[in-house]
Amino acid sequence: MNIRPEEVSNIIKNEIENYKKILNIKTSGSVLEVGDGIARVYGLSDAKAGEILEFSDNVIGMVLNLEENNVGVIILGDFTKIKEGDEVKSTGRIVSIPAGEEFLGRVVNALGEPIDGKGSVKIEKYMELERKASGIISRQPVFQPLQTGIKSIDGMVPIGKGQRELIIGDRQTGKTAIAIDAIINQKHTGVKCIYVAIGQKRSTVAQIYKKLEDLGAMEYTTIVAATASEAASLQYISPYAGVAMAEYFMDKGEDVLIVYDDLTKHAVAYREMSLLLKRPPGREAYPGDVFYLHSRLLERAAKLSDELGGGSITALPIIETQEGDVAAYIPTNVISITDGQIFLDTQLFNSGFRPAIDAGISVSRVGGAAQLKAMKQVASKVKLELAQYTELLTFSQFGSDLDKTTKAQLEKGHRIMAMLKQSQNKPYAVEEQVISFYAVTNGFYKDIEIKNVAEFEKELISYLKENTDVLTKIKEKGVLDEALEKEISDNINKFKKK
Ligand code: ATP
Ligand code: MG
Repeated sequence: MNIRPEEVSNIIKNEIENYKKILNIKTSGSVLEVGDGIARVYGLSDAKAGEILEFSDNVIGMVLNLEENNVGVIILGDFTKIKEGDEVKSTGRIVSIPAGEEFLGRVVNALGEPIDGKGSVKIEKYMELERKASGIISRQPVFQPLQTGIKSIDGMVPIGKGQRELIIGDRQTGKTAIAIDAIINQKHTGVKCIYVAIGQKRSTVAQIYKKLEDLGAMEYTTIVAATASEAASLQYISPYAGVAMAEYFMDKGEDVLIVYDDLTKHAVAYREMSLLLKRPPGREAYPGDVFYLHSRLLERAAKLSDELGGGSITALPIIETQEGDVAAYIPTNVISITDGQIFLDTQLFNSGFRPAIDAGISVSRVGGAAQLKAMKQVASKVKLELAQYTELLTFSQFGSDLDKTTKAQLEKGHRIMAMLKQSQNKPYAVEEQVISFYAVTNGFYKDIEIKNVAEFEKELISYLKENTDVLTKIKEKGVLDEALEKEISDNINKFKKK
């Protein structure tokens, strides 16, 4: 081997220069003012946006505003320990979140610290809080289904791995219930789940934890909680912390489902911080960059290319509307960045149609490509008939004399609606859903009373499971050919005779 002296001396020079840098890194400043979770610091002339600052008592903060002669900092901890005039050190580090396998099954705060009293967690890697979303080349189109187990979603607004599907509706319309059902249905699929609770009541988060624990879903789930009692700064970073943990799994080639419950409260926390930092308010008093707040978060959902391991993050953001107003600032923003939305309707919910999904205005822009073929075959018919039914229903309210075909269509519509009702925590496998959709569109429910639809369906599926192998056939073939269709309809007839 040939050693060149100038190369060696270069390396030594570099080492010496860098050594000096390390010594210089901790520039320090002092606190000008502090309160309400934010601080202004003087003297940190080379602070970077997003950098961690160290206050006294081990409290840390994150730089958010860079101004001419001071920096605006959000405090990620107890700000009451900080006094005016205290020393502040810059660290040169960007906020990062711990991640690892052991975080599954745990409840953590927005900084990734466990808060469930079950001891410490083995940290495998630190992930950047704000990472740039995957580029265009490193992605591939959505093509695998992510089953939620909810009939009206998997049938009519299907979700694919890597998609961002918004759940939107007024308060108390079953938004959280849908997201939790989707998590429960990931059992035995290998999909890891992350539930981010932003600005919710502690008791609600405790209930969700208990439900997931009871149903065995905590094994593959992490809850990131920044509850209403926590500072706005922690609520603000919590969804980024959640997605950073999700990226740990995606980078390893695994699939992740992440729920942000909800981004309305997230925007409100951000508005609070921005106003305290004296950023200029815009529409609805939100700062000018509130769009970027959510777009950079949701862009981190992706289906990676096979060269990068093929991992994915599927995001289910939740938005709460006021009186169904989807044209308000935050809802329109988030609608425009997502790949579709599931609308929940208060009237439907109150009339007992649950999950209260309004199929007419709910869409999924990319999930259709990922849907099982057999499902697509049967569900597209249901969608069409449901649209006709809704139209006829409004029309039929005006007159009492209806012709025979209209009446029959209405009757069928009633049965489709009854079939789409589903109680909480009762996920359906995709092949069971295919049977339900097939039976209702092909008139097998005609002579069943509406109040008996649910029971008929339940018994039909368990009959087919016990006495035939059509369900496994649907799963294996993935498509309904003529022979299989005949087998299904023969078996349903056999069951009905019984
Ligand atoms: P919030 O605005 O308070 O967050 P939300 O929209 O998230 O409410 P949920 O908390 O999910 O709504 O549900 C509201 C209530 O409706 C709960 O009591 C829940 O048990 C009930 N519920 C939700 N979905 C169903 C369903 N499919 N069948 C029966 N009850 C349901
Ligand atoms: Mg909720």
